[in-house]
Amino acid sequence: MNRISVAQPKLAGNERKYVLDCLDTNWISSNGKYIGAFEESFARFCGVKHAVAANNGTTALHLALVALDLQPGDEVIIPTVTYIATANAVRYCGATPVLADVCPDTMNIDPAHVERLITPRTRGIIPVHLYGHAADMTPLQDIARRHKLWLLEDAAEAHGAEIDGKRIGAIGDCAIFSFFGNKIVTTGEGGMVTTNDDALAARLRLYRGQGVDPTRRYWFPVIGYNYRMTNIQAAIGLAQMETIETALRDRQELARMYDQALAPLADELVLPVVRPGARHVFWMYTVYLRKGGEAQRDAVMSALDGQGIETRPVFHPMHVLPPYREDKSYPVADTWAQRGINLPTHQFLVEADIQRIAAALRSALGR
Ligand SMILES: *Cc1c(COP(=O)(O)O)cnc(C)c1O
Repeated sequence: MNRISVAQPKLAGNERKYVLDCLDTNWISSNGKYIGAFEESFARFCGVKHAVAANNGTTALHLALVALDLQPGDEVIIPTVTYIATANAVRYCGATPVLADVCPDTMNIDPAHVERLITPRTRGIIPVHLYGHAADMTPLQDIARRHKLWLLEDAAEAHGAEIDGKRIGAIGDCAIFSFFGNKIVTTGEGGMVTTNDDALAARLRLYRGQGVDPTRRYWFPVIGYNYRMTNIQAAIGLAQMETIETALRDRQELARMYDQALAPLADELVLPVVRPGARHVFWMYTVYLRKGGEAQRDAVMSALDGQGIETRPVFHPMHVLPPYREDKSYPVADTWAQRGINLPTHQFLVEADIQRIAAALRSALGR
C-alpha cells in the first residue's frame, strides 16, 4: 500500500514554465519581473495595498517586527500554541514574547487572556491563525485600539482565511505569510508581509534590502537585512496564485470528506470547529482525542504510521519548550495540545485515502 504523506505541494500550473523563463532569461536572483508580479497578485488576493516578499516566513516576521520598531525590553503577546518562529522573531529583536492561553475550540489566542497580560511595556499582539482558522480578530482589534498596540497577524498557515466578513492579511496593521513547501501556497522557501500602511511598506522594503537608500546608491541610513526573495521563488509563487482558488476549493472538499468519514468517531474525537462568520482554509485538518494525554495520542499516531499514514502532533506549547519554558500552567493549551493530531491535508488525497485514514483511526481507537 502506498504511503500517505501529511503534506505535499501541488505544482501543476505554470510553475515549470515561469521557472524556465527565469533560467532562459538569466534573471535568477532577487531582481526580475516575477517578484513585482507575485507581490501584486498576492496583495490583490488579500485585498491590501502592499505585499512585500521575503525569503521565508520567519524573516518576514522579523522584518515586520523591525519595521514596527520593536525594541529590546518591549513585550509582545503571542499564543503559547504556535510554531516556534513566532516567538523566535520577537527574541531576535531583543524583546520578550509574553504567552497567552488559547480558546478550546480553535486553539487560537484567547482575547480575554490577552487583556490580562498587558503591561506598560506591551507594544503589540501577534495572533496566529492556527492551521487555517482565523483568530478572533474583532475583540483583538478592540483591545489593540484601547491600549494603542499594533496587531501583526501571523497568517503563515491561513492564506485566504476570513473572519467576520474580512479577509486575513488585511485586518491587522500588517500580516505575514509563509510559502514553505508544506504551506497552502508554496515557493519552496518564501514569505510575504502585507499591509495597507504606506509608511510601513516603505520601511519593510528598506529593511529587506540591507537598508539601502532608495534614492542614493550604496548609501545606508540604517542597519538592514538581506531578506530578499529570488525571481525563481516568485516565479513559482505567481503560478501558485493563478491556481489558489482551486487549491482552496480542494481543501474545503477534503474537509467535507473527513467530517463525513469521521462523524461516527465523534465520541472519541473532536473534529475541526468552524466558528460562525469564519472561512477555515484547512491548512491542516486537525483532530483531538476527547480524553487521554500525550502517550495515548502518540500511540494513535504510531498505529496510523504502521498503516502507512503520516501524521503530525499539534505544536508543543511554547511554555514547555526549553527556550521559553515556564512553570505557569496554561489550562487549555496544557490539556488539548497534547491530544491533537494533524491528519494528511493536501490536494492529492482522494475519497479512498480518506476512507483508509478513517478506518485506521477507527481501529487505533479500538472501535
Ligand atoms: C511556517 C510558519 C512560520 C514560518 O515560516 P517559514 O517560512 O517556515 O520560515 C511562522 N509561523 C507559523 C505559525 C508557521 O506555521
